[in-house]
Amino acid sequence: MNNYDVIIIGAGPIGLACGLEAQEAGLSYLILEKGCLVNSLYNYPANMTFFSTSERLEIGDVPFVSNNAKPTRAEALEYYRRVAVHRKLAIHLFETVESVTSQENLYQITTSKAQYSCKSIVIATGFYDIPYLMEVEGEDLPKVTHYYEEPHFYSMQNVLVVGANNSAVDAALETWRKGANVTMVVRSEGIGERVKYWAKPDIENRIKEGSIQAFFNSEVAAIRQHEVDIKTPEGIVTIPNDYVIAMTGYQPNLTFLEKMGIELSQDEIRKPFYDDKTQETNLPNVFLAGVICGGMNTHSLFIENSRVHATHIMDTLKKRFL
Ligand SMILES: Cc1cc2nc3c(=O)[nH]c(=O)nc-3n(C[C@H](O)[C@H](O)[C@H](O)COP(=O)(O)OP(=O)(O)OC[C@H]3O[C@@H](n4cnc5c(N)ncnc54)[C@H](O)[C@@H]3O)c2cc1C
Repeated sequence: MNNYDVIIIGAGPIGLACGLEAQEAGLSYLILEKGCLVNSLYNYPANMTFFSTSERLEIGDVPFVSNNAKPTRAEALEYYRRVAVHRKLAIHLFETVESVTSQENLYQITTSKAQYSCKSIVIATGFYDIPYLMEVEGEDLPKVTHYYEEPHFYSMQNVLVVGANNSAVDAALETWRKGANVTMVVRSEGIGERVKYWAKPDIENRIKEGSIQAFFNSEVAAIRQHEVDIKTPEGIVTIPNDYVIAMTGYQPNLTFLEKMGIELSQDEIRKPFYDDKTQETNLPNVFLAGVICGGMNTHSLFIENSRVHATHIMDTLKKRFL
């Protein structure tokens, strides 16, 4: 069958939550995911710990049992996979949604593999696909990454970590603990205020004692094979370098929404238009769910406070289609 009540784009935690609610409501649905199941979480650092407690990451009323108060990435992958498999969610993995058009009261979806039609669409595409670039010479060298995985690789190497939020702090501490010589370059004058309460004093003390060198109010100026230039308030500083871990953040693919005809705010946040009660956009029967709803403000919504979007959307669709 290629005709559905609702097609959900993205099998992140919120796309899965939407699938569970659609299934529960008796709507015909399909989740389309361009990567693996919970693709963003899969690409998070291997040793990452969530700031939320496990019950706040639960979907579809399935308990999330974690060994510790804060679950790890590995536990979250296990949890969401068990939920998807156990509930037999209809998901097509490794199938990218490329375009959406409308004809009469139906939407046509073209993916990398097939075509579908549906009465409604939920866009739950997250924000982890497009890294913010530093736009400096040498950023395209293979030694530069925007997706940090795990620390062992960097042992005994000169590592530059760019940024001062959670991902940067985790990367700096982990690689330093595995024997890397770590330098941080931070645009602001200190470590980010949102850094996890147990990691902030750790990184600040490592910097204070000189174990990790940090340049604040500074930016990367150029990257070369064996060194980097850092623009500091005192002028350009050049240091030896083997690898750059650029934890400069990510942005949602808002062009995808614009191409569909979804209105965005005109300011720098480019927040998509949607109704707070139903999550419906300016396009009839096209809904937004999860972190994508915040536009460029990717910190306002996360798993624990956007799970509820699934219920709002499927309650609306139940009334319309059943
Ligand atoms: C390091 C880190 C730690 C975090 N810790 C927490 C935490 O403790 N608690 C919390 O609540 N949140 C946390 N978050 C935020 C949370 O992970 C995100 O808010 C969450 O992933 C959002 O879920 P989502 O389903 O909206 O988007 P995502 O999980 O990003 O899922 C979107 C999915 O859509 C897919 N997709 C995109 N475009 C297409 C397309 N065209 N076709 C098909 N599929 C597509 C992507 O591959 C992806 O799988 C953390 C984030 C990071 C980076």
